[in-house]
Amino acid sequence: MLKLLRKIVTEVRSQSDLETVLELIVRRIQEGMDTEVCSVYLKDPTNQRLVLRATQGLHKDSVGSSLSKFEGVVGLVASRAEPVNTDDVEEHPAFCLIPGSGEEQFHSFLGVPIIYQRDVLGVLVIQQFDRRRYKEVEESFLVTVSAQLAGIIVQAEATSVVEVPKQTEKPQVDRCFVGVPGSPGIAIGKMVVVSQTAQLDNVAEWKVSDTKAEIVVFEAALKNVRTDIRMASERLAEKLGEEERALFDVYLRMLDDNSLAGEIIKRISEGSCAQWSLSSVIKEHTRQFDMMDDPYLKERASDIRDLGHRILAYLQEGETPKVVELAQNSILVADELSPAMLGEIATEKLAGLISVKGSGNSHAAILARSMGIPTIMGAIDLPYKKLSGRSVIIDGHSGRLYLNPSQELLEIYQTQLATEREQEEELDNLKLLPACTQDGVTMPLWVNTGLIADVQRSLDKGAEGIGLYRTEIPFMIRNVFPSEQDQMEIYTRQLEAFAPRPVTMRTLDIGGDKSLTYFPIEEENPFLGWRGVRVTLDHPEIFLVQIRAMLRANEKYGNLRIMLPMVTSINEVLESIALIDQAIFELTEEGYKVVRPPIGVMIEVPAALYLTRVFARHVDFISVGSNDLTQYLLAVDRNNPRVASLYTSYHPAVLQALRFIVVEAHKENVPVSICGELAADPAGALLLMAMGYNFLSMNANNLPKIKAVIRSSRFDEVKVMLRNVLNLNDSEHIRQELEHSLNEMGLGAYA
Ligand code: PEP
Ligand code: MG
Repeated sequence: MLKLLRKIVTEVRSQSDLETVLELIVRRIQEGMDTEVCSVYLKDPTNQRLVLRATQGLHKDSVGSSLSKFEGVVGLVASRAEPVNTDDVEEHPAFCLIPGSGEEQFHSFLGVPIIYQRDVLGVLVIQQFDRRRYKEVEESFLVTVSAQLAGIIVQAEATSVVEVPKQTEKPQVDRCFVGVPGSPGIAIGKMVVVSQTAQLDNVAEWKVSDTKAEIVVFEAALKNVRTDIRMASERLAEKLGEEERALFDVYLRMLDDNSLAGEIIKRISEGSCAQWSLSSVIKEHTRQFDMMDDPYLKERASDIRDLGHRILAYLQEGETPKVVELAQNSILVADELSPAMLGEIATEKLAGLISVKGSGNSHAAILARSMGIPTIMGAIDLPYKKLSGRSVIIDGHSGRLYLNPSQELLEIYQTQLATEREQEEELDNLKLLPACTQDGVTMPLWVNTGLIADVQRSLDKGAEGIGLYRTEIPFMIRNVFPSEQDQMEIYTRQLEAFAPRPVTMRTLDIGGDKSLTYFPIEEENPFLGWRGVRVTLDHPEIFLVQIRAMLRANEKYGNLRIMLPMVTSINEVLESIALIDQAIFELTEEGYKVVRPPIGVMIEVPAALYLTRVFARHVDFISVGSNDLTQYLLAVDRNNPRVASLYTSYHPAVLQALRFIVVEAHKENVPVSICGELAADPAGALLLMAMGYNFLSMNANNLPKIKAVIRSSRFDEVKVMLRNVLNLNDSEHIRQELEHSLNEMGLGAYA
């Protein structure tokens, strides 16, 4: 059964057209389960009716017939969202016949709902002449197949509606896809899809006009792979037997013009780019092998895939997001937007970003916010590979994107875009004014930086210091670890630009969703793995070089603060401090005039939260990383769009934790700040202020808004708001209470 399941899923997954997908599903299930009928009903979202979309066994003419969601046993399966298994469906009280379907001949009936993310998409049905109840194992098999197929059906449905309309058809307009808000704002433009690293599955489709030139490019890549294979064969000549060496000849033959290469070239001549032609041909071949029962032949699928990757690597050689030609108002789309990618992109022409993977607190989203680029994350259902050149509106506030927008929708969004730009300009007038409440309480506002452009942006917005400089960002846009001298130059830019204002440099925080291409970390559970200070303590040579570079850069300016990420125990704190002291000692010996900067720790892990007071006895400041603290307290991956709705810093446990940290740190007279995204949220910033945080650090783009909120509020009212909120036990109630309080305080525009 498991084999059958895999076979069906593999075959169906390789198709993108909905009709083909549904046809395949019914055919394969009918054959595989040896039953007389298999049908798929899908809900029509416009009227909620269940439409028979494909069948094997019922009359084909009845495809397109529909039932209301309360009609028939099929309707019952959909409305109850559970299977119905009966030996005589005509006897069932809910029975209702689709006239002309020929259904009356079939007695046994098993229907299971097709559910995707809690929504019933439709019903999968099998039927048989004989009166028999389907066995439990058959029922659970159908439930399993249905669960696996649901996602594929959603993808295929999305692809079908975004296919370029034929000339005669009316264009599809306002097709909405829902993701997760990544960075606020509106962007209107054309999509540019970036194919990432040599992965056949990630290749996007481009149409090329000069097919001859594209064939030349492909043949050059092919030639390189042929040479590689010949060389490998010669190199291994002595170590391999005759039989194994023959494999290389097989590879070479596969690359013959009459074989794979010929097919790929044919597809390029029809106008598709080389990468797409390669990936589609390879995928078709591997699918055929994958479905074979013979283990030897099955293995051949991986040989073909390997050849495909090799050719793709040559086709993509030297290709980085940077070389993607961006026209004005481009919306960049990637399978997984990475911080490294953002670091390299020329942003002038970039209007917006879409990432299929990742969520609102992934580092790519955090960077996009700091760059002020409207972004949607986690658009998991978007068939993005086929969308290059398509018009789109992205709404970074709601996480929605609209493909092929109608003129009407475009006008609505153009007006909103213009209003937002005006508001931004107004807020910039606050640059030189303090963040002081109406009743005289001042809250210093600092910034988080990482990209080079952040420094100027932060100064332009009137930042009073840097509360978090993410040093891993400059590491990410390089090919090797930067040298001490390189790092010193990078750090000098931050210190110099802000002097005498303080600059808090966090030591290298890699791992989780921040990886270095030249220092790969492969882990099952990266957010619970080798991250932050755990890595640098295991590699003191990397840590010491970084600390030396920071201290040397600080010689002239004296405004450095060093901060340690992801600490969970006092040993990590003490060992890190010892290494910092070692660097100070060595530099002094070498004749540098270095001073010991203030050293602080981040509270990002529940264990650290309970040790706040212990840490406070050994450090000069504490900064809360609420992004990680929220994910670890709630056990919700900050990177996973499926659980994005569960990730909220307004959870009562998170708010209690945030207050606990301030109380504990202040017992030791140690100042506490926050550098997670909560500080950039209007209601969040006010709550943190009421809790007693000493300053807030946020992305530069949000700073003017937070300043405006603070300047319009009264501290005594904010204290009452905090008290009310801390009495509530549910994040949704807390959100409503905050909205209500902001409205009462006349801050409804920020709610
Ligand atoms: C945090 O976790 O809140 C934080 C500021 O660090 P980062 O977002 O870089 O993990
Ligand atoms: Mg963190």
